[in-house]
Amino acid sequence: MPSLDCIIGLPGVELENAISLESIEVYATTSLRPPCIHCGGAKTRIKSSFTRRLNHTRQGNRLMVLFIRSRKFLCLLCKKYFNLRIPGVLPRKRSTESFRQEVYEKHHGGISQQFLSRTHGIGAATVERWYQDFTLYRVKELQGRPAPRVLGIDEHFFTRKDGFATTFCDLTKHKIYDVILGRSEKSLEKPLALVSEKSRTRLAVIDLSENYRQIIKKHFPNALIVADRFHVIRLINHHFLKAWQLMDSTGRKNRGLLSLMRRHERNLKTDQRSKLQSYLANYPTLLELYDIKQRLCILLGINTKKKFLLRVMIREFLSIINQLKETGMDSIRTLGETLDKWKEEIARMIRFSNSNGITEGFHTKMEMISRRAFGFRNFENYRRRVLAHCGWDGVFAIRN
Ligand SMILES: [Zn+2]
Repeated sequence: MPSLDCIIGLPGVELENAISLESIEVYATTSLRPPCIHCGGAKTRIKSSFTRRLNHTRQGNRLMVLFIRSRKFLCLLCKKYFNLRIPGVLPRKRSTESFRQEVYEKHHGGISQQFLSRTHGIGAATVERWYQDFTLYRVKELQGRPAPRVLGIDEHFFTRKDGFATTFCDLTKHKIYDVILGRSEKSLEKPLALVSEKSRTRLAVIDLSENYRQIIKKHFPNALIVADRFHVIRLINHHFLKAWQLMDSTGRKNRGLLSLMRRHERNLKTDQRSKLQSYLANYPTLLELYDIKQRLCILLGINTKKKFLLRVMIREFLSIINQLKETGMDSIRTLGETLDKWKEEIARMIRFSNSNGITEGFHTKMEMISRRAFGFRNFENYRRRVLAHCGWDGVFAIRN
């Protein structure tokens, strides 16, 4: 009955009969005659036959159990025995791969081991073992991938004992490429040496960290470094608010004013703008700084590929840096110097629209993974889990 085979979904297995009991018992047979698994010889003899009992998916609300008449062969060439390998079932397993995958996906979706052991007729420890097994399998498939074309690098907190970890994100595919424990050059050295095709990385987005800049220059020779927009704007705001604190410490503590100062001028309503202007009128130096900050933030918010516009904007950017460096205030001068040190990377921000927003989003997801596991002690386990969930698209082929 070949038309019914799709119900089982195992190639080469033919349905014979089905009995509906507490579980659905399906009887099937197979006429597969594979070559010898030891030597590949085609001449084989059927030695004996036996019935293989396999858990296989849930139909409706009941477990489907397969009873497949399987065979043991004798190879006439090498005189060795072997059992038939049914496609979609791993050797020595008492469940089909689709069943195991179903359990994996359900458990990943948040269904507890205890509940799954009740619905699927397996032990809680089995659920855990299968989950680990599939996670490892996924991570293995990801090994040896070429380096991403657009790379996002950022750090995130792992544990108090082990400190920080570095995330490498594929910004074109929106996937995590890898996570590595540590953020120093020394701790990243070894894992990065194993990455293949590093020369194909064209762009790398980082926050303003000297460490990461050195790492990219060393390991990704063809990558242009782009500063992350969020971190640059945050840096500007930070120094600006610090300067304000020195000029008027009581005004800085005013929550309403603080909120007005932080925002883009274009996002303020008319009455808010006039309120801010009347405050700034008392502090001419602050007003001057505020205007520079506005110009800078507007400039850095723009994204263009037109060469003419880019040239104009970069000139404007450099003049702002000089203005900042010439002010009498320490914190503003530091800002100017930092921007000067990173001027190429920041200027590229105007040309390229890539940012580490995707990486930060993944950090939230990784926090959730960690939270759901009640924290990780072993970094390798954490890495596996992250790669299995954030490293590639959901569905994967049934193993054979
Ligand atoms: Zn053989």
